[in-house]
Amino acid sequence: MKCNQCHFNDSKVIESRDVSDGQAIRRRRVCLQCGYRFTTYERLERPQLIIIKNDGTRELFNRTKLLAGLYSACEKTPVTSLQLERLVNDVEQDLYACGEAEVKSTKVGEQVMNRLAALNEVAYVRFASVYPRFKDIASFERELSQIKDEIRAGKHQKPTELVKD
Ligand SMILES: [Zn+2]
Repeated sequence: MKCNQCHFNDSKVIESRDVSDGQAIRRRRVCLQCGYRFTTYERLERPQLIIIKNDGTRELFNRTKLLAGLYSACEKTPVTSLQLERLVNDVEQDLYACGEAEVKSTKVGEQVMNRLAALNEVAYVRFASVYPRFKDIASFERELSQIKDEIRAGKHQKPTELVKD
């Protein structure tokens, strides 16, 4: 992996973290020439998922776009980028596990929101507010209290502790 500061060809891995039950690994590296630190991800290559939007049009599942939406929802909360990376990986893994080549955008949204609710309530509310499913505040509040009850009942699991190798 080439250093993008000095273009030297060799780096050393200083930390490896499994970010999705063996489906993805995040590595911190340091350039052996200039000492610059950077992060690389290694993940399984899979066929692209197609998302069916509400208006019936299709687009490719875009994890970068989803992550960007989550980052802005989690601004000024204690949620870490590693937690969000795991969340998106878990959602992706579930979508692949259902074996469909095409998935409705509402299904993706639900998967994300259920996990986000377990992670941080403020982030959940922010993410939900830009999500078109909630047409009025009453249906939104119903959904929120239902998810809170489910969390209390242990239905949504918090992400497991990070494994260091
Ligand atoms: Zn370098």
